[in-house]
Amino acid sequence: MSKQMQAKMTEQEPKPPFPEQHQKGPGLESKLDPLPHFHAEAYKPAGKLENKVALITGGDSGIGRAVALLYAREGAKVAIVYLPVEQSDADTTKKAIEEVGGTCLQIAGDLTDTAFCDKVVEKTVQEFGTIDILVANAGHQNRKKTLQDVTDEEFDRTFKTNIYSYFRLARAALRHMKPGSAIIATSSETGILGSKLLPDYSATKGAINAFTKTLAMNVLDRHIRVNAVAPGPVWTPLNPSDAGETPEQVAQFGADSPMGRPAQPEELAPAYVFLASNADSSYITGTVLEVMGGETTGG
Ligand code: NAD
Ligand code: MG
Repeated sequence: MSKQMQAKMTEQEPKPPFPEQHQKGPGLESKLDPLPHFHAEAYKPAGKLENKVALITGGDSGIGRAVALLYAREGAKVAIVYLPVEQSDADTTKKAIEEVGGTCLQIAGDLTDTAFCDKVVEKTVQEFGTIDILVANAGHQNRKKTLQDVTDEEFDRTFKTNIYSYFRLARAALRHMKPGSAIIATSSETGILGSKLLPDYSATKGAINAFTKTLAMNVLDRHIRVNAVAPGPVWTPLNPSDAGETPEQVAQFGADSPMGRPAQPEELAPAYVFLASNADSSYITGTVLEVMGGETTGG
């Protein structure tokens, strides 16, 4: 595809205002209007992940779905984890993967449960024989006006979903991973910049960044690389199902970012291929890769 064509596609990515909308968490991608773009049609696969096995949490929708499909197009076998209420979205991901000749193992359950984190790794290894790539991508967020609105239960839920599960999944995956494997976490610009209405969420993303750097040092001698991706706003179910977001705010989602729009999931997924592929990023570990649409204040 020509540069002109790509530029045109970028200009055509949906911009706010979107229709006013809101869903109950975790939200379904199938109910978003407009539907997010996850097919990455301009992307040309090159067999970068052939014979690899990848486990992707939150692979039913949003960024995780786009990553799962691109990994499959790059030749990986993919296992996706999601909550049982998201089965219909997970079926759409599986179908999209099978349409490109890939294989998708679905694992439904709650990642705030320690035993389930171990179980998903074991299931992946039982099905595919190994695990080469872990993408710890599941996340939970609810905006709050003041710290008084952050209950202990909500604080626990955010930490258990976003950072405990990353730690537990990495610990379980590292029992099996061989040299050349990769761990990738989804962070956020909020972990770098902070975010006024997301105290618990931003703290988990800061923890993800520090844990990523530390784990990278810890497993460097095993030739396993550990990195994170920090997205800016992305059009996925996460924000339209944030209990602290109004339908009017969802309509303006991403308007205040430098590009005046949120990213589409397909604009995030290539960063995850890059960090998983030893042909692309063999000298990169312990980094937090910013995919923030021109937001530069975090340095
Ligand atoms: P999404 O809603 O599509 O994905 C989040 C997924 O997390 C859900 O699909 C769900 O399957 C999973 N999940 C949540 N709680 C879970 C639990 N207890 N057990 C199992 N799975 C659970 O939204 P997304 O935006 O693609 O989110 C993916 C990641 O991107 C998250 O870590 C999020 O924090 C991060 N992120 C998103 C944005 C954005 O603007 N959308 C920006 C920065 C970072
Ligand atoms: Mg989902």
